[in-house]
Amino acid sequence: MKDCDDAPATSGPSLLTTVTSFIAGSLTSAVLTATAAALAAAPAAASPYSDINAAAAASPITVHSLRRHVSMLEGSGGNIGVLAGPDGLLMVDAGIAVSQPKIVAALSSIEPGKVRYVINTHWHWDHTDGNGWLRRTGATVIADKQVVRRLTQTIRVVEWEHTFTPIPPAELPNQVLSGDKTLHMDGETVRIRHYQPGHTDGDMSVYFANADVLQTGDTFWNGMYPFIDYVTGGSIDGAIRAANTNLAMAGANTVVIPGHGPVGNRAQLIEFRDMLIAIRAKVAALKAKGNSLEQVLAAKPTASYDARWGTSVINGALFTTLVYRGV
Ligand SMILES: [Zn+2]
Repeated sequence: MKDCDDAPATSGPSLLTTVTSFIAGSLTSAVLTATAAALAAAPAAASPYSDINAAAAASPITVHSLRRHVSMLEGSGGNIGVLAGPDGLLMVDAGIAVSQPKIVAALSSIEPGKVRYVINTHWHWDHTDGNGWLRRTGATVIADKQVVRRLTQTIRVVEWEHTFTPIPPAELPNQVLSGDKTLHMDGETVRIRHYQPGHTDGDMSVYFANADVLQTGDTFWNGMYPFIDYVTGGSIDGAIRAANTNLAMAGANTVVIPGHGPVGNRAQLIEFRDMLIAIRAKVAALKAKGNSLEQVLAAKPTASYDARWGTSVINGALFTTLVYRGV
């Protein structure tokens, strides 16, 4: 086993609801019911980590055809970008390992062929857990050197109530980047570019230049407060910087694949960036007056934003806590 669940039970119905909506997105009520039932049947010692895995196990994989040979798969942790064509398949992020059979079926519904490349946007398991099975099929897994470093460490992510332990060498990325890289495949120009530390310290974007599709990893959550991983180099100021980097890369017609949430566009990138800046300012002003975290939470600085951004896995209180840490 490469992971261990070691947290006591703290989740309840509200967590089940948020995790279900986080994973299931716009799925039908029947699927939501099935997902909720699967979550309810999960072991008593559930954590956000195990709940998200259970949700992926219960969720179908939905294929969204975007432009040219580029699609998005939804339903296995973070969103997965797919480039398909005569040269084979390229995936951006690998989802959660339990989804393997459903991802294989979804890929073959797009285009029969072999997965040649997988690009990891960052180290989090909901984007890299599938690396192992993909490497066993012969795919080359590409990631930043910080991703490999993090995947070979023992890291406690408090908010996921989970301690990640080192990944076996055979399941690690096997093409390690320290700079940007461009691939040519299936008639596409695939530009892999680094962010400064933002969500984590190993974030990369992938831009399909001919299709004009940008995949941001978790530097953009469409319509949701984002998670920020301070333990591995993320921060609110870095998250804002990455949001501005996304705006510099996206044009008026760019289709944006977010880390989480539905397919987006430049206007939604702007809305997300402006939300980050506004909440950072509110929390920083309260903290500068000497307020403790508990006092800032009581002041509910995200109140006017929560209906729009706080109904998924990161609610207003958790996002306030994440921002408070960095200002
Ligand atoms: Zn992430």
